[in-house]
Amino acid sequence: MSDDGKPPQPPDPDELARQIQEFMKQHFGGNFPFPGMPGVASGAAAKPPARDGGGAKPATSKQADPDVFDFHLRPADIKAHLDRYVIRQDEAKKVLAIAVCDHYNRARSLHQLEQEDPDKARQVEFAKLNMILVGPTGVGKTYLIRHIADFIGVPFVKADATKFSETGYVGGDVDDLVRDLVSKADGDVELAEHGIIYIDEIDKLASRGGHQGRDVSGRGVQTTLLKLMEETEVPARNPMDISGQMQAMFQMQRGGGKGPSRDTINTRNILFVVSGAFSGLEDIVSRRLRSGRIGFGAMHEQETAGQDEWFAAAATEDFIEYGFEAEFIGRLPVRVVCSSLSENDLFEIMTRSEGSVIRQFGSEFEAYGLELEIREDAMREVARRAVEEKTGARGLLTVWERILRDFKFLLPDSGVEKVVIDDAVMNDPPAAAARLAAEARAGGANVKRFLREFEHQHGLRLSFTTEALMEIGRLSGERGNDPSALCAELFHDYQFGLKLVRDNTGRTSFELPAKAVTQPERWLSDMVVESYRASSGSGGASPGDHHGTPPAHEG
Ligand code: ADP
Repeated sequence: MSDDGKPPQPPDPDELARQIQEFMKQHFGGNFPFPGMPGVASGAAAKPPARDGGGAKPATSKQADPDVFDFHLRPADIKAHLDRYVIRQDEAKKVLAIAVCDHYNRARSLHQLEQEDPDKARQVEFAKLNMILVGPTGVGKTYLIRHIADFIGVPFVKADATKFSETGYVGGDVDDLVRDLVSKADGDVELAEHGIIYIDEIDKLASRGGHQGRDVSGRGVQTTLLKLMEETEVPARNPMDISGQMQAMFQMQRGGGKGPSRDTINTRNILFVVSGAFSGLEDIVSRRLRSGRIGFGAMHEQETAGQDEWFAAAATEDFIEYGFEAEFIGRLPVRVVCSSLSENDLFEIMTRSEGSVIRQFGSEFEAYGLELEIREDAMREVARRAVEEKTGARGLLTVWERILRDFKFLLPDSGVEKVVIDDAVMNDPPAAAARLAAEARAGGANVKRFLREFEHQHGLRLSFTTEALMEIGRLSGERGNDPSALCAELFHDYQFGLKLVRDNTGRTSFELPAKAVTQPERWLSDMVVESYRASSGSGGASPGDHHGTPPAHEG
């Protein structure tokens, strides 16, 4: 009791968690993991599995808008939405759109029935349209489902099957997936109960003779997932998360706040989508079809079928032979195949998809005060290189990152305002970026004006190497000179010497190296001497070679 006679107020939950942790440490020694406590890493047991390849991007989720309990979309609406973002995969879009509409139409009528007659609603038989997505990496499997969830306004959670174990302590508790839906739905349990759980790399749970070393535990995880995929009640709080449990208790005492308002979350209406590359499945399918010679057209078709076609023909028995439990595969009635992407598909992803990486680059450059223009020829070349990466559309990001990194490093605050990426840049992006930066430092526009005027007056085309531009930048800084005035001074009698060179060799175009800037007269006289030698047919080294730079070339 406090002095005023009132019972003491409990400390806030974080403080209490800290005190309990201290108590446990004193009495039981060691470090007692206290998940959820600020500044304390969660213990493995309570840690949610890694999502989305390490959680690079938060899953898109939206509050019920349009209201999922007033679901009114048609399969064609969903397909049309997906077409805006996802290139190809037309059959997958269609099958997914239909399954999703059926699922949410049924959820809506069940929801209505629950309001009217809860007992009857509970008795309704209901086979869920959970799905398997088969296809190589980076072809849009996750992207499709993420966009579907976003469009219909339900929370979406992605996890990796390899992070689970049968007992749920390696990397995470399978139930965490369901609880994550609640946090994605901002504590709205009812909405979470209609969310989508996406589990990638499901093929790694197959238990083919020693496949991936997951024989026993793979089967165990399948059983655990099976329970979730059917109907089960998941505790709204992780039993290991003591701090979270206490937070909930305090919230209840205070009678407010967000957070789950119920003790359990029902998984009856949660849609499960599992996916994987299923390498080797095509052999199982082709073996079955070849031996049975049924259901797959003429012999010659069988011989020419690629992986995508075999995948499309995969039946339940093939998945069982691959190493799945019959019950598990039986709960995944919708089979969808996503095909690999061609060079042209990758090009279209850049040019047509509303979610194209190219748009992202534009805003990245804008943040550095740079305008970015990417020309079509550059995109074609990137598509060609990305195919070689063999990681689907992910390859685009890899290739672009390599190309753009020097521009992002060298150009911010260099004076460059616009970057144009064309085919010429592709040969050597670092050199192109360095050149732009050097040009900018040399007062790019001014130097260009000098070059233009020189050509206009004398009919000779000059250009500078990157090193020469850097020298011009340095010198004009030192002398406090305008770069254009500096060039006019350095090269004031170049037209005479270069015209002699032109008369001797026919050249009208000259690339000036750094030496032409630091020792303009010397470089020019070497050029002239060399041109006389060349014209008299004596051959020998050119001044350019002599000074380690190409002297001149045809323009
Ligand atoms: P996975 O098939 O391995 O699940 P993702 O769907 O995660 O691959 O694709 C990775 C990224 O590549 C997506 O976020 C998207 O930007 C892009 N992408 C992949 N496939 C397509 C596609 N068919 N159309 C448009 N973009 C795509």
